[in-house]
Amino acid sequence: MNLNDLSLRSISKNIYFRSHILFNRNEIRNTDKALHEDLLKIQEKKWLRLARYAVRNVPFYRNYFERYKLKLEDIRSLDSLKLFPFIDKVIVRNNPDLFISDKYKKADLYTQRTAGSSGAPLVIYEPKHLRAVERAFHLENWERTGFIHKKSTLLSIRGRDKKASDGEIIKYEPSELRYSVSTFSLFQNIDEVIELLKKEKIEFIFTFPSTAEYLAAAILERELSPKDFPELQGLLLSSETINPVMRETITKAFNAKIFSHFGHTEKLILGGECPHSSDYHLFPTYGITELISERSENIIEPGIQGELTGTTLINYAMPLIRYRTGDYAEWSGRGCQCGRHYQRIKNVYGKYAMLSIYDCNYEKFNLLHAIRSAIYLIKDHPYEKFLKYQFVQDKPGVLKLNYIPRKDASKDDEEKVKINFRECFGDKFSLIITPVEGIMLDESGKQKLLIQNIKR
Ligand SMILES: [Zn+2]
Repeated sequence: MNLNDLSLRSISKNIYFRSHILFNRNEIRNTDKALHEDLLKIQEKKWLRLARYAVRNVPFYRNYFERYKLKLEDIRSLDSLKLFPFIDKVIVRNNPDLFISDKYKKADLYTQRTAGSSGAPLVIYEPKHLRAVERAFHLENWERTGFIHKKSTLLSIRGRDKKASDGEIIKYEPSELRYSVSTFSLFQNIDEVIELLKKEKIEFIFTFPSTAEYLAAAILERELSPKDFPELQGLLLSSETINPVMRETITKAFNAKIFSHFGHTEKLILGGECPHSSDYHLFPTYGITELISERSENIIEPGIQGELTGTTLINYAMPLIRYRTGDYAEWSGRGCQCGRHYQRIKNVYGKYAMLSIYDCNYEKFNLLHAIRSAIYLIKDHPYEKFLKYQFVQDKPGVLKLNYIPRKDASKDDEEKVKINFRECFGDKFSLIITPVEGIMLDESGKQKLLIQNIKR
């Protein structure tokens, strides 16, 4: 193969990628202002196609239909979802090949790994064009915030960004007006990144909520304020849930709108905020979302918490149906000032909210409770003293809290945290607080809130 072959191949790959993005962006725009009943019809058509395909070509579903004597003709409406069993990370991780369609060769598929907050990661297989489909949804989501692809200056601070791993700390792609920094190099180079924000008139930042919170805390520590970043219009946050304290810290540092969106590696549910509402507007052509109660019943009323359960409408290589994500949310009302009739969810609690710590009798307590009691109860907000923090548990009844201190943090702050914690948990736990220089990130570059080494 000579150089020309290579460049031709790269050009045709590029055209292929762009045409998929364009096609999908058009399709999303066509459904953007559709009425609820019309959205249901569009979703049903996509579901019937995917469900029948899965039963014909995917061993897990073919076997299931055979075992329970179900027929293809039984799949007649959106309601037929209920013919399918719930699945979860463990089932898919233990039987990955059963979920891959016969129509695809495993070697031709891309793989994505879910960041395992506990246990082994799950590998998701995708056809090559799915990245373009995903990008189309993200661009549509972002452009609702005022961001314009290739016209707005973007700083992306994400995990192991390949574009930023060739020795350069900050990589610039002129055609995209995009600067990229890896979260793995952010802490060591924070001043350089803050300088970039000021000098290059960055208009949007794309990152994880925990990284945005850290960046905001570092800015406040340097006594900078929103007037130092007058061009910044918005923060595009994803891949983690964002809590009110995070929002407050970020807003104090940047006078910019926060647009978070909910998505996950399995690519079954995707939704974003709009300028009028911080609820997540779920894309109806990306996947089908159900909220499932503890008794495995469908929740339909707003305001009741249930497990987010997703069904793909886009991944035909590994079609996951009724996959319990381990994240929790509530339905919000229908209709929004933005004119979209998408289903909306609010009060999303990520998996970390379900993470547990154990006292010496192995009694289980919620980690979020520990964070609220110990850290958020410091009279001044945590970012006043802690730049970042992480809990580690190796032994029952003993919890370690590692933190990166601000320059003016003192032993008194540690004492305050200990008192708060004791008031909440009594003597169930001994808390060991240690200032550290770095906090462990997971494989995708997100901050891990808890390293739980007790296996239950
Ligand atoms: Zn809206």
